Amino acid sequence: MKRYQELPIGGVIPGGATPHLVQTGGWRSGKKPVFNEKLCVNCLLCWVHCPEATILVERSQMRGISYDHCKGCGICSQACPTGAIVMVAETNDEPQMPQQKAGEEVCV
Ligand code: SF4
Ligand code: SF4
Repeated sequence: MKRYQELPIGGVIPGGATPHLVQTGGWRSGKKPVFNEKLCVNCLLCWVHCPEATILVERSQMRGISYDHCKGCGICSQACPTGAIVMVAETNDEPQMPQQKAGEEVCV
């Protein structure tokens, strides 16, 4: 077995992470999370658990899901204690969730 010093250097993304330039939601699983604001208690468990950081939060309020990067894993739906996020099959005529605009800060 090779020592780590002998392994070839791996790939590098120039400039670090580029989520604003690369939208990876196009290869979602075929299901997408849909957010029901009326059931949300803003616990932010979905935000904590989402592996893609696609839960949009503004002033400690859950605001929706960025489909630009959501992969449809369903973890947010599983983590939500109130059923405010449900996974549905993707179609082209579903209502769009709030999207983060380029340069817009999303914070808690
Ligand atoms: S389905 Fe997965 S990637 Fe999409 S918002 Fe939920 S946890 Fe994040
Ligand atoms: S986990 Fe559910 S209740 Fe909590 S912030 Fe997310 S959508 Fe709202």
